[in-house]
Amino acid sequence: MCVGLARLPAERLRGTLRAMSRPACSRCQRPLSHCLCALIPALDSRTRVLILQHPSETNHALNTARFAALGLRNAQLCVGEVFDELAQWLALPGYQACLLFPGDEAVMLTARAQEQPPLLLVVPDGTWRKARKLLHANPLLAALPRVSLAASAPSRYRLRKAPSESALSTIEAITQALETLEAPARFDALLRPFEALIEGQIEAMGEQTYQRNHQRSD
Ligand SMILES: [Zn+2]
Repeated sequence: MCVGLARLPAERLRGTLRAMSRPACSRCQRPLSHCLCALIPALDSRTRVLILQHPSETNHALNTARFAALGLRNAQLCVGEVFDELAQWLALPGYQACLLFPGDEAVMLTARAQEQPPLLLVVPDGTWRKARKLLHANPLLAALPRVSLAASAPSRYRLRKAPSESALSTIEAITQALETLEAPARFDALLRPFEALIEGQIEAMGEQTYQRNHQRSD
């Protein structure tokens, strides 16, 4: 649920809905007039990223997982609730599969040595509740070794309510994971379309509404 959209005045909401029904770019799925493809990089990574997206996220206006999958050459985005081909995907030769998911048993990610096999980083995309559902519906996922991110800067994803201040959007989590695993390589170019999208949304919402609804008091 996009918090910003829900709180928009009726007139602006109609405008937003009109915008959503305009012809969309088949690649980034933004309205053609606001296509962000020029900002999407094509980054190489040693790590392979497999994003499993709950169907409820697919049509979300801020589908950040899609930008991550488009911006990384070694990434794949799959949409579904039960993934029948998961065993095959996880057995990709040359990689060690693990699940990016917080929890007591999760091991904090650190730089990956060249002599170690690269990770196949499985990233569930969706609200926490939906991500847990994906784990429940796909026991192979739940059985993977879990990894988590070190505490980091607060999310730039200010438009969507996160369960905690430190929760990152999917694209921010992936960027941070890759920068940790493959240090000193940088992956921040991945965030460019995401940042443009957020700036656009804030502009559309009106700075005042944004301040009132989304700015933290600290
Ligand atoms: Zn596009």
